[in-house]
Amino acid sequence: MLRPDCYFSRISAIDPIDDLRKKGVRAVLLDMDNTLLTRDTHEVPEDVKQWLSDVKRAGIAPCILTNNWHSSAHDCAREIGLPIVARALKPLPFSYFVACRKLGVKRLETACIGDQLMTDVWGGRLLGMRAIMVKPLVAKDLKHTLFLRRIEKRILCDMPIER
Ligand SMILES: [Mg+2]
Repeated sequence: MLRPDCYFSRISAIDPIDDLRKKGVRAVLLDMDNTLLTRDTHEVPEDVKQWLSDVKRAGIAPCILTNNWHSSAHDCAREIGLPIVARALKPLPFSYFVACRKLGVKRLETACIGDQLMTDVWGGRLLGMRAIMVKPLVAKDLKHTLFLRRIEKRILCDMPIER
């Protein structure tokens, strides 16, 4: 319950077919900061853009689910052409339901993907979703996030990174 189903070095290391489609995943709820875009330069890396188009081509519907409340979150979503649920208050479940309704999918055919255990992963796990954790794109992050990472490290210490 406390741990993700799997752990990857970055979001683009997840294979849309083998790691998602073949596991029954039809939709993905994606964290934004340090999962899709870097916390320092606020850019979406090229490999992540390519991954998003591969995911769509695999017939999987993506939606951004972020605790970010700034208007720049919506600008980013527009730029990369994804629907967004912002101010999500993860790990509380409400926004996960909102995102599933937006995509027209059931929660049990949905996976959540993010770089933080106590928000992205735990929220999805609470609802029985598949939960995939990724390493943050860059080391820079908010102060409280860096503090939580120290606790994450203890919980995940023996969890292997698949790829
Ligand atoms: Mg994040």
